[in-house]
Amino acid sequence: MVRELTHFIGGRHVGGTSGRFADVFDPSSGQVQARVPLASADEVRAVIADAEHAQLAWGAANPQRRARVLMRFVDLIKRDIEALARLLSSEHGKTIDDARGDIQRGVEVIEFCIGAPHLLKGEYTSAAGTGIDVYSMRQPLGVVAGITPFNFPAMIPLWKAGPALAAGNAFVLKPSERDPSVPLRIAELFLEAGIPAGVFNVVNGDKEAVDTLLEDDRVKAIGFVGSTPIAHYIYTSAAQHGKRAQCFGGAKNHMIVMPDADLDQVADALIGAGYGSAGERCMAISVAVPVGDETADALAAKLAERVGHLRIGPALAADVDYGPLVSRDAVERVSGYIQTGIDEGATLLADGRGHVVPGHENGFYLGPTLFDHVTTDMTIYREEVFGPVLVIARAADYEEALAMASDHEFGNGVAIFTRDGDAARDFTARVNVGMVGVNVPIPVPIAYHTFGGWKKSGFGDLNQHGPDAFRFYTKTKTVTSRWPSGIKEGASFVIPTMH
Ligand code: NAD
Repeated sequence: MVRELTHFIGGRHVGGTSGRFADVFDPSSGQVQARVPLASADEVRAVIADAEHAQLAWGAANPQRRARVLMRFVDLIKRDIEALARLLSSEHGKTIDDARGDIQRGVEVIEFCIGAPHLLKGEYTSAAGTGIDVYSMRQPLGVVAGITPFNFPAMIPLWKAGPALAAGNAFVLKPSERDPSVPLRIAELFLEAGIPAGVFNVVNGDKEAVDTLLEDDRVKAIGFVGSTPIAHYIYTSAAQHGKRAQCFGGAKNHMIVMPDADLDQVADALIGAGYGSAGERCMAISVAVPVGDETADALAAKLAERVGHLRIGPALAADVDYGPLVSRDAVERVSGYIQTGIDEGATLLADGRGHVVPGHENGFYLGPTLFDHVTTDMTIYREEVFGPVLVIARAADYEEALAMASDHEFGNGVAIFTRDGDAARDFTARVNVGMVGVNVPIPVPIAYHTFGGWKKSGFGDLNQHGPDAFRFYTKTKTVTSRWPSGIKEGASFVIPTMH
């Protein structure tokens, strides 16, 4: 039976009234399992009005009380993690272990946000002048919105909502229409944890909903994660409407393999980071850059051998390395890239097209694909493929490898595998990429640092989670006061200075 999903507004589930819906698939079977309403502009405006009202009391509550709600929320997520992970896998297609990780990385940011009272403290200067004290305070923005992608339906909404709520904002989440059930469940859990109705809302929708959030003056900030063209669109539109925005986009993450690296460790890292979650991670490694032909030949042989043993199957099955892609469109898009790679002259070492999982013939599966001799002018090198496709792009020496990662238009993550500390140190200092791993293939920073790519992988000047998130979701007010008030200096016609 096809379930009909809702929005979550004002503390309750609300059916869609626009008459527009999108299908939600089970990618493992290829069947439609639910349909999600796509909100009209009027529906979105009603959510914003509700949120604006609810924010007043929430923003005025002391920060410790807000933090306690987040503490309870963490316990509730832990209570329900198995059911949440199953729900997530069934709509996204990632394995159940990976789904638990998706939720856990989100929870870690909520745990960090429990320390918000410390991060929301202002600064104070006493006796800056005669009887003058100066202090600053961080205040919530009001209503803020998060627009999130399909590939981390728990983690990214929690990365956005945690700091926004802890800072006293009301939050409107517009999750991906492809896997909206976990975000709706998160809304229920926030309510159960004690968040007042209307402070955390989920509005499902597409461009119409997003554009309404962008255009409405009552929404003060937009946090976006998704593909680069949409990230750029949202960043520029938000700016036009006078809003704050942080918009994170696509990626092409390189892994530099130095000749002294342990190639078995490298192969393990590349197989996991390249094919895990069917390559549908913004921090997936999609380009291996072995330095020197000897390293490249040995690495290509190891990868080709290992790729042949990968187990692909339904998301909820045991002993599966990765599950289906999110949609049939995604399978077709990635298959098109594989054909382009062949046409442009790359060497195909493994072809994942046409992969059939017995008993799940209509599922959205692709086997692992591996290319060698990929050059920097090829489409499969330049563009984000976002599927289980790993390419080997050989570099003659370290400087060439460094330049490849630095010159690529995306700058999300990068890794170097080496036993040479000098090379690693030089690489971390010089590479033009936002997040760097040294012998770590997926360098997603922990919750109390910040996450953000450079170049076309990120628009805006503040990153996600960590202290940056509290700067993004608050505005600073600075007060200059004089006590006793009766000091008389006569009228002054010059700008006050601290002389
Ligand atoms: P997407 O850009 O298609 O969708 C992201 C969000 O934008 C969704 O909520 C969607 O409904 C909305 N949207 C889509 N088209 C829109 C339009 N024309 N106007 C307004 N809103 C629109 O991305 P996706 O396919 O859901 O996610 C995969 C992409 O996200 C990949 O490119 C991946 O690299 C990227 N990603 C980046 C990061 C990061 O931190 N840099 C993290 C995860 C995913």
